[in-house]
Amino acid sequence: MNTEPSIFERIMAGDIPSEMVYEDDQAIVIRDINPQAPIHLLIIPRIKIPRLVDAEQDHREVLGHLMLLAGQMAEKMGCSDAFRLVVNNGAEAGQTVFHLHLHLLAQKRFDEGSLASPF
Ligand code: AMP
Repeated sequence: MNTEPSIFERIMAGDIPSEMVYEDDQAIVIRDINPQAPIHLLIIPRIKIPRLVDAEQDHREVLGHLMLLAGQMAEKMGCSDAFRLVVNNGAEAGQTVFHLHLHLLAQKRFDEGSLASPF
């Protein structure tokens, strides 16, 4: 397993700047540096789970927390009626940062694309 700190761990450590939207003891929420929609947040657990498939039973609480946080962040951003959550699992699915994160995307028309082209 890669023991190098992920870019998100470096952001949490304060080594890399980010636009922090929210943080608590289990997760942080930042704006994506390369937004694919007018609202594009990353909801990131403090614990490094490389991919969703690497999550285990012990992670149930933090995984639930991420989902609840997604709803709360949508409320906070004023987009709770229309947003999309995306998890890329694996390089071939577009995952580039191997530290689990939810993409929260909003204020973009989603009816044009299929689920196969998530953004
Ligand atoms: P994924 O491709 O699903 O692994 O998503 C990784 C996301 O992290 C991409 O959308 C990147 O634009 C985003 N990203 C990478 N580095 C940073 C950074 N320093 N600050 C904010 N977002 C970043």
